[in-house]
Amino acid sequence: MTAETAWIADRIKQNQIDRYLDQGHDLIDDAAIWKKIEAAREPDASVVRAILARSLAVQTLTPEELALLIRVQDPEMLREMETAAFQIKKKVYDNRIVTFAPLYMGNYCVNNCAYCGFKHENLRAKRRVLSQDEIRRETEILTGKIGHKRIIAVYGEHPLTGIDYILESMKTIYGVKTPTKHGFGNIRRINVNAAPMSVEELVRLRDGGLGTYQVFQETYHHETYAKLHPKGTLKSDYRWRLYAMHRAMEAGIDDVGIGVLFGLYDWRFEVMALLDHAIHLETKMGIGPHTVSFPRMEPALNSEYAEHSPYKVSDEDFKKIILLIRLAIPYTGMIITARETARMRREAISLGITQTDASTKIGIGSYSEEGQGQESERQQFMLGDTRSLNELVRDLAEMGHITSFCTAGYRCGRTGKCIMDLLRSGQEGKFCKLNAVLTFQEWLDDFATPATRKAGLRVLEKELEEIKAKNPQGFPVFYQFLERVRKGERDLFL
Ligand code: SAM
Ligand code: SF4
Repeated sequence: MTAETAWIADRIKQNQIDRYLDQGHDLIDDAAIWKKIEAAREPDASVVRAILARSLAVQTLTPEELALLIRVQDPEMLREMETAAFQIKKKVYDNRIVTFAPLYMGNYCVNNCAYCGFKHENLRAKRRVLSQDEIRRETEILTGKIGHKRIIAVYGEHPLTGIDYILESMKTIYGVKTPTKHGFGNIRRINVNAAPMSVEELVRLRDGGLGTYQVFQETYHHETYAKLHPKGTLKSDYRWRLYAMHRAMEAGIDDVGIGVLFGLYDWRFEVMALLDHAIHLETKMGIGPHTVSFPRMEPALNSEYAEHSPYKVSDEDFKKIILLIRLAIPYTGMIITARETARMRREAISLGITQTDASTKIGIGSYSEEGQGQESERQQFMLGDTRSLNELVRDLAEMGHITSFCTAGYRCGRTGKCIMDLLRSGQEGKFCKLNAVLTFQEWLDDFATPATRKAGLRVLEKELEEIKAKNPQGFPVFYQFLERVRKGERDLFL
């Protein structure tokens, strides 16, 4: 047995799957989902409006209600759904958009996912794992030149990037403090997208300063899952992956991110299953998903399926998917990435997206290697939007959004159930709006070009007026914080 096969053999802990099953069944019942989709007929206006009233009250919808909304075709009703989605986003998250950068740590992988450029069988991939020095250099660019405060660290599933490496890399990233124009830059929240782990490993991840733990089910459809994740590979175990978030919560990780890789199977089934997953986490573990991600399949090197899937999702359907999830799981954060074009990202934001990346590079080591364009041998798939953070901030400001670099929540214990309750009651803005303004000012002072700074300050002024009108007594204390930031103090939060 090689070291690699020994590592693989020991990964999956069957008892950490079995304890969540219900009489041997997992939480996704394919036949029941299809039955609900097929039973639903296009609802009339009064039914749609009654469902929207529940979404607007930040209540999770039932699968039957979602099945009805999936059927809506009437343009007028669709417009009402879009208006409701925007209102929910405003009520729960205000006009803030959180930004981050992905940081790919390595592309070694023991799996053979049919759609991914990192798959083991792809002999054309240039394989590499970042050393700690390289991670430091990548982080210096992200924090010193671009101004990111959050990253999503992405790892292939391989003994070279196992839990020890993940923890060491997080320590390295948190340790980087880079001088900027008026203060310093650093990464304040590391979210992790990595393969499913055991409870014991997840406890270590939590203690290492994890923000959100992301694992996408890719497809919830059992048969398609089996077809795309070859038997004998670690990832072929559907249930080990499905209960990754239950284990994370058992390990004390409150913020978990779920998702579907849209394009692998029928999207109507996938959104229904996503909702089942969210409801199960809410009811059995006490907290729903902190975020839902919307990766849509992109062409990848040596991947037939990524090019020719029969389930490719059109732009129109993709927007409907985003709309439906905003209505069905109204409290959740929603992430769209630079896989999508600038135009799609703009439209998606008005449908309820709350987080997006910028200045994105997904080649291993690409941030610190000057002059590197996109290169299919080094990256998992090709990007649709390579705009800089500066351009994105300006674009968002012109749309009336404030870019939030706030990472205070998890650092002062506002995570999990606590943040969910604040979100549901529309009170989360109390802290987040204030911290968003502080971090936005910080970023504008340190990184913005003159045009972006001008557009940003215009939105910021409006925010200040709103904060003052809402809480005239508390305003002076907040304003003192803002003045300290303007004088160069960094990383302040309330
Ligand atoms: N290896 C880990 C795993 O699979 O969970 C995490 C890293 S993997 C690089 C992150 C995500 O990339 C996957 O969960 C999948 O949804 C997405 N992905 C894979 N191939 C893709 C493609 N061709 N286009 C868009 N997204 C893709
Ligand atoms: Fe490996 Fe993840 Fe790509 Fe699958 S999706 S081949 S597990 S990196």
